[in-house]
Amino acid sequence: MSWRDLYCGELRETNIGSRVTVAGWADTRRDHGGLVFVDLRDHTGKVQLVINPERAPDAASVAHEVRNEFVLQAEGEVVARAPEAVNPNLPTGGVEIQVDTLRILSRSTPLPFQLDEENVDETLRLRYRWLDMRGERMQHNLRLGHTVIAAIRRSMDEQGFVDVWTPSMTRGTPEGARDFLVPVRLQPGKFFALAQSPQLFKQLCMVGGIDRYYQIATCWRDEDLRADRQFEFRQLDLELAFAEREDVLDVMERAVVAAFESLGREAPSRPFERLAYDDVIARYGTDKPDLRYGLEIQEATDVTRDSEFGVFANAPCVRYLVAPRAFSRAELARLEEIAKEWGAKGLAYVVVDESGEMRSPILKFLSEREQAALAAPPGSTVLFGAGDADTVARVLGGLRVHLGRELDLAADGGDVFHWVLDFPLFEQDDAGGWTFLHHPFTAPMPGDEGWDEASPANVHGQHYDLIWNGWELGSGSIRIHDVELQKKVFRTMGLSDEEAQSKFGFLLDALAMGAPPHGGFAMGIERFVALMAGEPDIRQVIAFPKVSSGSDPLTGAPTPMPAGVLAELGVAALPGDDPGAA
Ligand code: ASP
Repeated sequence: MSWRDLYCGELRETNIGSRVTVAGWADTRRDHGGLVFVDLRDHTGKVQLVINPERAPDAASVAHEVRNEFVLQAEGEVVARAPEAVNPNLPTGGVEIQVDTLRILSRSTPLPFQLDEENVDETLRLRYRWLDMRGERMQHNLRLGHTVIAAIRRSMDEQGFVDVWTPSMTRGTPEGARDFLVPVRLQPGKFFALAQSPQLFKQLCMVGGIDRYYQIATCWRDEDLRADRQFEFRQLDLELAFAEREDVLDVMERAVVAAFESLGREAPSRPFERLAYDDVIARYGTDKPDLRYGLEIQEATDVTRDSEFGVFANAPCVRYLVAPRAFSRAELARLEEIAKEWGAKGLAYVVVDESGEMRSPILKFLSEREQAALAAPPGSTVLFGAGDADTVARVLGGLRVHLGRELDLAADGGDVFHWVLDFPLFEQDDAGGWTFLHHPFTAPMPGDEGWDEASPANVHGQHYDLIWNGWELGSGSIRIHDVELQKKVFRTMGLSDEEAQSKFGFLLDALAMGAPPHGGFAMGIERFVALMAGEPDIRQVIAFPKVSSGSDPLTGAPTPMPAGVLAELGVAALPGDDPGAA
């Protein structure tokens, strides 16, 4: 006997007159003094069961025992609903099943929350995730994730990529986060690191002649958890040999478009816009601008050079935003607070009211020439940043994001994808030395290879980021395939050739044995799926995520381990530590 003939959500008027067996969960039960109605639910929808004691007395006595989320099997006849009982909002709303046999396959204890309840505490939802998963939101999100990943896999296959599995347990991969460590019983006191990404293995695949590698790879990074961050997440990870930057961007664009098409959504048009890093920082104050709206940062350094307003005259850089609204004093005070959070000392402004009149405490200091240069339309506010270029970019970039949100500037913007290219190769670290911006395997721009190892500030790298509506989806680069150049990058980061050999000897050896030019990319799958699903955080598209304390409310992990187990691994917990604390 099979458990069911068809899914609950599949029944239609065409089934009227046939006998069917269905199975699923009791979504609701209504007892109408005699007749019992049960909405039976599975992942496809709900169908109404009618249990009539006159027609089926045994089924009726079973029906009285049924409670929400019991698992049932029902056999009976599909009939048309009476006209006044038709539910036009349900695909199955024109029919019901007159039940002849009803079986309880499984019972449920009272529920910690109802499936359709709103604002259920998230930790409670995660503690009972199997219940939460039965609800529409998780059903939709997990299936949407599946559709997107299947489309990406198809696209990669069509583009000639080979899925190669790479190890999770490895040496640390420098992606800028802490490693999770795995002690090794066979070698007490030694540790594997869980891969922060398959970066070096995919490069070795290129040296190994795979030509086009991809993987939906799990990555582990020990970072604080946030809306778009979990300890473990997946990447669409790919690498191409004999590739130029444009080849990599083209592959990724095709994968993104395939994902949109798989959901029947209008795909962003290709090629996605390409913008240089220096340019986006100057215009938007961030390397991941939301381009659904303009609100560009504008230059005023020259025009304010001899300003009578001392703050402008003395600042190496003066820039401004024109917000499309004449702000009130209270609103300006709030904006000033935000500017300060981003590092400003204050916020100079000029409000242009609806009649075109300017209002500002600094107006009396601004010459006619300055006022003319900064002219803004009626009903707007000019907001200034003055100081060193980095601070000004940060402050105005922060204000731009805030205003975009507050004034709902992105509302009609659709889906805007773009690339940011030509990042600096190095940045200064906290100790005053130099470190990589992306990772140390990114190639410099052609022509930039001759940098002075002590001052690499102006070297640009062949690194690129993909941005969707202000969210960074992922990064990639053309890699170094010349062993001497790779050693030079390590030296610039303060690693001697000996240290580089001991940490990355396997890579240097491979680069010295016929490495083709190559480059690649990695895109965060959960972030992409969450944005596709319109979800505010990636936990809503992950079956079993952790909460921000780093715990899993469902299993209770992580847990302390008995001292004997630790001893076998060559590990000891420090006294006073409470590894079980949530
Ligand atoms: N491994 C890099 C990352 O995880 C991506 C890449 O360069 O391909 O961000």
